[in-house]
Amino acid sequence: MPQATSKLNAFPVFMRVEGEAVAIVGGGEEALAKARLIGQSSALLRIIADAAEPELLAFIAATGAIHIAAAYDAAHLEGAVMVFAASGNEALDRRVAEDARRLGIPVNAVDRPELCDFFTPALVNRAPVAIAIGTEGAGPVLAQMLRSRIDRMLSPSLGPLASLAASLRGTAERLLPKGNARRRFWSDFFGGSPARAMAAGQLSQAHDAAVDLLLSNAPASGHVALVGAGPGAEDLLTLRAHRLLMEADVIVHDALVPEAIVAMGRRDAERLPVGKRKGCHTKSQAEINALLIELGRDGKRVVRLKSGDPLVFGRAGEEMAALRDAGVAYEVVPGVTAAFAAAADFELPLTLRGVSSSMVFTTGHDLKGNSLPDWAKLAISGATVAVYMGRSVAAEVAGRLIEAGLSPDTAVAVVENASLANRRRFHGTLADLPSLEVRADLTGPVMTIIGDAVAGANFERSEPLATHRHEGAAQTAVEGAER
Ligand code: SAH
Repeated sequence: MPQATSKLNAFPVFMRVEGEAVAIVGGGEEALAKARLIGQSSALLRIIADAAEPELLAFIAATGAIHIAAAYDAAHLEGAVMVFAASGNEALDRRVAEDARRLGIPVNAVDRPELCDFFTPALVNRAPVAIAIGTEGAGPVLAQMLRSRIDRMLSPSLGPLASLAASLRGTAERLLPKGNARRRFWSDFFGGSPARAMAAGQLSQAHDAAVDLLLSNAPASGHVALVGAGPGAEDLLTLRAHRLLMEADVIVHDALVPEAIVAMGRRDAERLPVGKRKGCHTKSQAEINALLIELGRDGKRVVRLKSGDPLVFGRAGEEMAALRDAGVAYEVVPGVTAAFAAAADFELPLTLRGVSSSMVFTTGHDLKGNSLPDWAKLAISGATVAVYMGRSVAAEVAGRLIEAGLSPDTAVAVVENASLANRRRFHGTLADLPSLEVRADLTGPVMTIIGDAVAGANFERSEPLATHRHEGAAQTAVEGAER
């Protein structure tokens, strides 16, 4: 095994190519791949190929690249700043490399590292920002993997944001003394309101926000993102949620959000768990509201991370109202709500042609008193009902729905720990549902889906609910946010 030296044998630089000629010798796939790569720059492409394949010809026609449709000659390389030997023919590539070297032009020969003066990187392009990934031959697959990971991390608006920064650089240098003030401005620019406006596609607002920052010279205003973490599986987090987590100074999260997702945040971000599990509230809602306001006023970038979607039984309404009243900027990032994750785990069509065309998100906790809530009527008229936090009121939900006229045979699907590896699925009827309340073996969050559409689910991997009708009482279970 070769000894790792931790020194680079190829050093990355960014070479000016604007308006310069880049020569590619070859007419096939390899030449096309290089042409596409260099085509991401403003270089003038010169493609030397006497027998170019149709795809390359189409590329040339579409981009206006220069095509020299003749047998290769060293004179074709003259004046180029870079040469690619990409003919797929070893003898020809060798000749091209030698000619280029004689002419003093750096050369890359596809798949022949020994002939290369330079290597081409895997590229994350957010022009004018570029991230080049090189592996010195450890492998294009590794480079592409890294490329896609980095690509996901970076907002598509990074390019326009960097261009805006470039246009403001002179002004910033004139107005702000070198050192802390200028550094703080740029860090607020790239992490604060101008970046957020640009991410929302609002170029002129981004510009105005940047000018405000420049002129006011005030400390950055904070920002709270109410972010849906999804049902639990890490890869059901949205790319936007992931990006905000990596930018956050503080992550304020609920108990239902798995540690693995919280850990996806910036390593030095402060992490504040705020509850809530049934029976052990860490902080009251009023305290959470106050905390978010305080962090926002302190200029922090806060991610308020909630399980599922923040706007579904997540008390986001109260947090948004408090932030609004306090004048703290916020945004909402949706997440995959538990009902959708549970339905996916069960291959359960939430709407089913000819069977169910509406859907109810509810919690069984509004069934107190004598009158039935409106959703019960919807259930009777065929809606699919997703019951959040429904375990401890399962008997009440079933009893009241049956009393109201829903058939005891109506299909019911229950998923514990939807989307996670330890998920469990149960199926049965409304008459079986009360058993949920008394089973001690369910300790994770539980989603119940009721309605005729449930009959369309896949029951191959689920257990019958009915077998557990006579178990002991469930103890304090995870019931989630809105209690
Ligand atoms: N905002 C969340 C819901 C919070 S209320 C969302 O949109 O999903 C908490 C309830 O959500 C739990 O009692 C349970 O009914 C449900 N829940 C959350 N995660 C779940 C999961 N992985 N599997 C099953 N149910 C879940």
